[in-house]
Amino acid sequence: MTVQTEFITLEDLVRGEVFDPSDPGYAAEAAAFNAAVAHCPDVVVAARDAADVVATVRWASLNSVPLHVQATGHGAERAMEGGVLLSTKRLRSVTIDPHARTATVGAGTRWREVIDAAAQHGLAPLNGSSSDVGVVGYTLGGGLPVLGRTFGFAADSVLSFEIVTMDGDSRTVSRTHEPELFDLIAGGGQGLVVVTGLTCRLYKVAQVYGGALVFDGAHSETVLRAFATWARTLKDASNTAIRFLRAPDAPDVPRELAGKLRVHVSFAHVGPGGEKALAPMRAAAPVLLDAVGALPYTEIDRVYSDPESPLPFLSGGAGIVDLTEDAIQAVLSAAGPDADTVLPLVEFRLLGGAMASEAGRTVSAHGLAYAMHAVGVLAPPIAEMVPAAIDGLLAALRPFGNGRSPRNFLGDREDLSEAYSESVNEVLALAREELDPQGLLRR
Ligand SMILES: Cc1cc2nc3c(=O)[nH]c(=O)nc-3n(C[C@H](O)[C@H](O)[C@H](O)COP(=O)(O)OP(=O)(O)OC[C@H]3O[C@@H](n4cnc5c(N)ncnc54)[C@H](O)[C@@H]3O)c2cc1C
Repeated sequence: MTVQTEFITLEDLVRGEVFDPSDPGYAAEAAAFNAAVAHCPDVVVAARDAADVVATVRWASLNSVPLHVQATGHGAERAMEGGVLLSTKRLRSVTIDPHARTATVGAGTRWREVIDAAAQHGLAPLNGSSSDVGVVGYTLGGGLPVLGRTFGFAADSVLSFEIVTMDGDSRTVSRTHEPELFDLIAGGGQGLVVVTGLTCRLYKVAQVYGGALVFDGAHSETVLRAFATWARTLKDASNTAIRFLRAPDAPDVPRELAGKLRVHVSFAHVGPGGEKALAPMRAAAPVLLDAVGALPYTEIDRVYSDPESPLPFLSGGAGIVDLTEDAIQAVLSAAGPDADTVLPLVEFRLLGGAMASEAGRTVSAHGLAYAMHAVGVLAPPIAEMVPAAIDGLLAALRPFGNGRSPRNFLGDREDLSEAYSESVNEVLALAREELDPQGLLRR
């Protein structure tokens, strides 16, 4: 295909393939992990290297064409229409420096690749609950890791970004080169610049004491109450979440699970003392399944057991200041055994620890005890009920928040200002005006 403007075609400029909607490879290249989202850009550029990224950004800027960047589509909750979709999924590379304890990755790299490469040196990165998620998109949104209470947000472990600004200039930013811009990108970078790679710290973690305890939903109230009390006592070495999981009442779901509620307590403890730390939850109610034990870091996905295949979903999230008695009642009404809800997952991930500091940071969970995250599956017969179910849940839990929420859990929101403090929002808006005066780079 030929996308031509002022006699220069995109194909002339890049080494990777360029697809328009009539090309057979278009749909696959534009596809997102969120199968509910069907991007329909005018053109998709399958970047083969960083030079392709620079050329595409320059072309979009010169021709005032909107630009969207996608690595895996885990963050896709709205379809892009028109413009250029820059697909970075081929820019996969990982270099581990075991002495400096760092990983340098390309823009299309997924966490799985970093976890496996780092594990060969007894090291671990700050990935989230699914290792299938892209390193760069996750980190630009702050990155709330499985081990976040112990080591902080992933964005705060970045040492440098390779960036391309909308004027087509490419450079490295770090704590010493353009430190103010670096700080903004580390957590506020989506829609600000295009990133071709980053270098981040790794941590000396070869295994955790982790996994999940599963309780019957009938014990929801006892388990949630025990969890809220227990979570306040945890040291930073312990990371946890409580999750209300409802299997759909569908023909392909085993009858003993269909429509049933289970309560999972996900847990990952770094260093000695994990078993002792978890003991109060093991004793809280009869445990249906105890899948917590010594876990090599390469199996860290077992803490949350997120879906591995693309599915159509809509998500929403909010920060919670504390699971007070009133908050517990609200959670039980919205997600407990008697709740009339179509949401298969409502999760409360414990924040605090190394994520709580606010000092000079773009991302922070200061003042928040939990990140609530809910997911609905956009499949018949319940698809149409999902948006209202998420709105209803957010409204029910709003009294227990403080207007802030981790960026990556906000879901399909027009206004993302909740992710940052007022002062960070102001600086981000100014930076966007300066770096992208035509407002072309989409989030
Ligand atoms: C199953 C699942 C589990 C998750 N678990 C966690 C978790 O534990 N913690 C957490 O913090 N988040 C989590 N998330 C959210 C996830 O981190 C965000 O959705 C993130 O944006 C996904 O990044 P991606 O690159 O994989 O997705 P994409 O959809 O490809 O990218 C997301 C956005 O990032 C931006 N972007 C991507 N690449 C670039 C680039 N090279 N340059 C500039 N901008 C870019 C774009 O704006 C893009 O729209 C989870 C999501 C899912 C679906």
